[in-house]
Amino acid sequence: MIPEKAMRIDGVVDGFDFAEAGARMHALATRLFPICRSITGPGLRETLRILGEAAPLELTEVPSGTAVFDWVVPKEWIIREAWIKGPDGSKVVDFSESNLHVMGYSTPVKARMPLSELRPNLHSLPDQPDRIPYRSSYYKENWGFCLSDARLRSLPEGEYEVRIDSELKDGSLTYGEWLLPGAREEEVLIFAHACHPSLANDNLSGLGVASELAAMLRRCERIYTYRFVFAPTVIGPITWLARNEAKTGRIRHGLVLALLGDAGHPTYKRSRRGNAPIDRAMAHVLARRGGPHVVKDFSPYGYDERQFCSPGFDLPVGCLMRSANGTFPEYHNSGDNLEFLKPASLADSLRICAQALSVLEGDGIYVNQNPKCEPRLGKRGIYDGLKGKPNLGDTELALLWVLNYSDGKHGLSEIAERAGIAFGDIRKAADLLEGCGLLKRSEIDNRRE
Ligand code: ZN
Repeated sequence: MIPEKAMRIDGVVDGFDFAEAGARMHALATRLFPICRSITGPGLRETLRILGEAAPLELTEVPSGTAVFDWVVPKEWIIREAWIKGPDGSKVVDFSESNLHVMGYSTPVKARMPLSELRPNLHSLPDQPDRIPYRSSYYKENWGFCLSDARLRSLPEGEYEVRIDSELKDGSLTYGEWLLPGAREEEVLIFAHACHPSLANDNLSGLGVASELAAMLRRCERIYTYRFVFAPTVIGPITWLARNEAKTGRIRHGLVLALLGDAGHPTYKRSRRGNAPIDRAMAHVLARRGGPHVVKDFSPYGYDERQFCSPGFDLPVGCLMRSANGTFPEYHNSGDNLEFLKPASLADSLRICAQALSVLEGDGIYVNQNPKCEPRLGKRGIYDGLKGKPNLGDTELALLWVLNYSDGKHGLSEIAERAGIAFGDIRKAADLLEGCGLLKRSEIDNRRE
């Protein structure tokens, strides 16, 4: 399963062309953008089929009506066409122009009515008159159209013909998983939602970063087992958790990926635990990255960390975003398009995730084998090994920190934090010291699953 000459993830990250990955993620988003996704149905399946081209996704179909904790898997929604014709017979709103034009989960309609009667079913954004809002009504049967406020204001009084050719039928909810086995059964969960229609940053960015991360991890030797889950938001993780409750004990770290491609700076939202290893790894990577970023505490509002961090699970799952949900004008409207999605931001988000995973994978507790006074490094050839390395100062310091705090109690990530040195340098120092017998992995650490 793991290629023979697999490298550790930190080695792969060092030589990785992130700019090229940024372009690939944008190309994937461009391909997925026109698909009319929803929380169930053909658009969600088509999206998962395309993601599965990289490596086969294990698909699960959960029938409508299945009870999942306090919820029920909804009926499947199928949409074929939707339009409104004005008094002169011309189409004034047409789903074939943008799949944001029809409210998600709209029930079928075939009717004629005056504008005044149609008006309550028309949604626009008066503050952003040229944008089409994104609306859905998953759990209450309703129908509606979304259009720009400019278009709405231009509609004349008169008789309108309204048609929504949709179906709500018993079917199933689909989710897809990639499982990448590692040396340990303990899992890292990566979740991205896949249910938003033509919105680029809000869902396609997460799918792209998750796919690239999975591709990168496939080339690596892995300590942890990685589980990638692609599912509709809210009902998706609820359904997954309901069906996999027994497995959740294996989840040691987790990340929800969303909104990773706008030009804003990164935002990491801590898990409910607040001090989980993923929280510390992300804070470390962001602090060392340079440039503005935000690390904020958990709140029960946002993306699907809400389910993973519900008190009955309280899993160590954080959420990485750039500009947070609801804080930018393009959120949930047609402004969240392919131009809003920046390849450089996608690449930067991928790098942050890969570096955080490098911390989790590379962390460990070690024991200094020569703890009484400092060992002489020169006679062990360590300094020879460092010659020609750009950062001799930091690496030398890192050696001293690792030797001093590797007493079987402090892990490498903790030492990196304490020393204010990048985890990668601490890890390299540990490799050098282990290579010459001055450091041994602690037995307690080795006994971990
Ligand atoms: Zn959203």
